[in-house]
Amino acid sequence: MASSRQVAEMSDNAKAFDSRMIAPALLDWYDRHARDLPWRTGPEALRNGVRPDPYRVWLSEVMLQQTTVAAVKSYYRRFTVTWPTVESLAAAADDDVMAAWAGLGYYSRARNLIAAARKVAEASGFPGNAEGLRALPGVGEYTSNAIAAIAYGEAVPVVDGNVERVVSRLLALAEPVKSAKSLIRETVAAMTPLDRPGDFAQAMMDLGATICTPKRPACVLCPINDRCTAFLAGPDPATLPVKAPKKERPSRLAAAFVAERATDGAVLLVRRPPSGLLGGMAGPYVTEFSSKKDGATGEGAAPFSADWVDCGTAEHGFTHFLLTLEVMWAQTPHGADLPPGAFWCPRERLAGEALPTVMRKAIAAAIPDAFNSGKI
Ligand code: SF4
Repeated sequence: MASSRQVAEMSDNAKAFDSRMIAPALLDWYDRHARDLPWRTGPEALRNGVRPDPYRVWLSEVMLQQTTVAAVKSYYRRFTVTWPTVESLAAAADDDVMAAWAGLGYYSRARNLIAAARKVAEASGFPGNAEGLRALPGVGEYTSNAIAAIAYGEAVPVVDGNVERVVSRLLALAEPVKSAKSLIRETVAAMTPLDRPGDFAQAMMDLGATICTPKRPACVLCPINDRCTAFLAGPDPATLPVKAPKKERPSRLAAAFVAERATDGAVLLVRRPPSGLLGGMAGPYVTEFSSKKDGATGEGAAPFSADWVDCGTAEHGFTHFLLTLEVMWAQTPHGADLPPGAFWCPRERLAGEALPTVMRKAIAAAIPDAFNSGKI
C-alpha cells in the first residue's frame, strides 16, 4: 500500500504532467520509426486506406500475451498460412491447433483461441467494440482495448507491461505498478488521441520495446524526453518502475515415466484433461505436480511395473512454481496395463505432437535423440 506521502507525491507528479502533449510527438516519431511486424498495418498503409484485419490483430495480441515478439513471429506466420481466416480456425481440429501452439506456452490461450474463433464464426464476425470483444474467451481488458484501438480506431486506453513502465517513468511514480494501476490507466486514457488511437497504442508499445527499455532506457533518443518527469528531474529512469518485494516461487516435485515400445521405439503419451495446467496437451505419464515438494516419485508411482531406469531430473519454471521432474525410462513389457488416455506416438511424429516444453524436456532426458534435431 502507498503511504499518504507517496500518494501525495504520485498525484502531484500526475497533476504536473501534461498528457495532451505526448501523442503528437510520439505519433510523429512512430511515423518514422514504427517497427515492421508481420501482423501490423503500418502508418503508411493506413494512410493508403488499408484496414487492419481484426482476426489478425486478435491472433497476434493473444499470442503476444506473456510472450516476446521474436518468439511469436514464426507461430503467427504458421497460423495465418494454415488458417487464414477466423472461420478456418474455427473449423480446425482442436488437436491440430494445440499441436501448432506447442512450445508457445500458456496453453489455456490456445484453448481460448479455439473457443473464441468458434464464437466469432457463429456470430458471423468479431464484436465491433472493446466491450463486445471482452465477452470472447481469453480476451481481457488489455486485449479487447488493443484490438478495438488498432482494428476499429476506438479511443480506449491500451495498457500492457511496457506501457506501465513508460508511464511510471513519465510520472516518476514512487510506487510499484501494482499500487498505481488506476492512475496509470487514467493517464493513458488522457494521453490517447481521438484520431489514430491504434497508432498511438502501437507507438507506446514500440517506445517501450525499443527506447524506454527495462534496464537501459535510451532517453536521449526518446521523442518525449522533454515531457518525462524521471528524465528531467529523477530518479534515474532505469530504477523505475519501483519493484514490489519479490515472492519466492515455490518448488514442486513430480515424476515423469517415459515408456518406449521395444519393437519400434514409439513413445507412450497421455493426453491431459482439457482444463487445468497444460490442459489438452500430451506428454509422458507424470504424477501430480499440484502438491508442494512432496510429489509422488520413484518406481512406486509408475503407471505399470517395468524395469524403470532413473534418468536424472528435468527442471522447468512455471509462472507460479518451479517444477523438478524425476525422469524414469523403461521399455514397455508385453501386455502392460496402460494408463487411461494413453496412446503410442511413433518416433517420427513426436516433434509434431502438442507437447509442452516441460514434457519435451522430460522425454529428452530419457531419450536424448527423441527429437532428432536436438531442439526442445
Ligand atoms: S525519457 Fe527515458 S524514461 Fe522517459 S519515457 Fe523516454 S525513454 Fe522512458
